Amino acid sequence: MPSQLRIGSLIGLTFLSAIALGSDDWTVLKQQGHDYVTFSNVAHFYQFPEYTRVSHTVSLRSDRRVIRAQTGTSELYINGVRFFTDFPILSSGNDELISAMDISKIIEPVMRPNRIKNSHKIETVVLDPGHGGTDNGASNRWGSEKSFAMDVASNVRRELIKAGYKVEMTRMGDKAIGLEERVNFANRFPNAVFISIHFNSSGSAEGLETYAVAPQGVASNMTNEKHASSGNTTWCQGNAQDEHNIALSAAIHASVLSRLSIFDRGVKHARFHVLRNIKVPAALIECGFLSSAAEGQRIATAQYRQQVGMAIAQGIQNYDAAVNFRGTGQTFAQAKTRLPAHSRPITEPLSAYVPPEPTHVDQPSISISAGE
Ligand SMILES: [Zn+2]
Repeated sequence: MPSQLRIGSLIGLTFLSAIALGSDDWTVLKQQGHDYVTFSNVAHFYQFPEYTRVSHTVSLRSDRRVIRAQTGTSELYINGVRFFTDFPILSSGNDELISAMDISKIIEPVMRPNRIKNSHKIETVVLDPGHGGTDNGASNRWGSEKSFAMDVASNVRRELIKAGYKVEMTRMGDKAIGLEERVNFANRFPNAVFISIHFNSSGSAEGLETYAVAPQGVASNMTNEKHASSGNTTWCQGNAQDEHNIALSAAIHASVLSRLSIFDRGVKHARFHVLRNIKVPAALIECGFLSSAAEGQRIATAQYRQQVGMAIAQGIQNYDAAVNFRGTGQTFAQAKTRLPAHSRPITEPLSAYVPPEPTHVDQPSISISAGE
């Protein structure tokens, strides 16, 4: 039996105490050396009226949101959008458990983005098309990652300028730029966000991945990219923005999912070099796999890259609106997270997933949005 302790009596509970309203809000259990809480505690804290457990799958439901998770996995679905947790979902007696780290670094900032501290209206969006010059990144018969990433970035830039943002690019032409140089460039701009744009490559894999830097003490989730180091789990500059990073990543990820029928590989935490030492909120998006025959061909179409660009731009604006929402009272009910409605059960094996037919372009459903 794990020891069950009240939060107030534990040392080092900085994660949960930051979001707790009082010392009785969370009951913490030690599991595998980490702090965990029960999903019934999560349901209570976030006021989910419905809480069900069916064969190791927990579902928390309210009229607007659904959180689902399955014991033994490191996956969490918030309104159908997939997140990789920092520690596994566990089972203990009568309840499923989630780590305090995952509450504070994923659930809380995604559910209540307007409560994230030190939010500013975005003035400048720094776009970072991956690779360049002699570094082509991944490639397929239709082209290279460096060119596709630049085209997506140009589309994002156009949309954001239209929406009134200042936009800076880490590279404008086909130039080789060091990772440190990209970071140093972005760090010059106050009230900015940084978005690094890439494409994946790995066998026949498909889908969308979005990354925020891994929090202190957390190893990277699986990644195919070369520019990440998984071993180091010490604090880095980017960790000062953990909550903003995940909210930004989730907003962009959900926006792209809502606009394009693309497989959801999840929002993840990883120590990409361009995310580690950045001072402003930052995300890295992998907009599909060049190595997949079908997806690779799709990425080669200007229409796909335009849709991705528009969706990323929309996601950035959704994030900006969500973290800066200041309604009267800022109550839980007013800080709404509207991710796309979940489309498939978490119990369905991933291998059974068949991407839906591309649908006509519609207004993207708002991903993370504060207020009505
Ligand atoms: Zn890349």
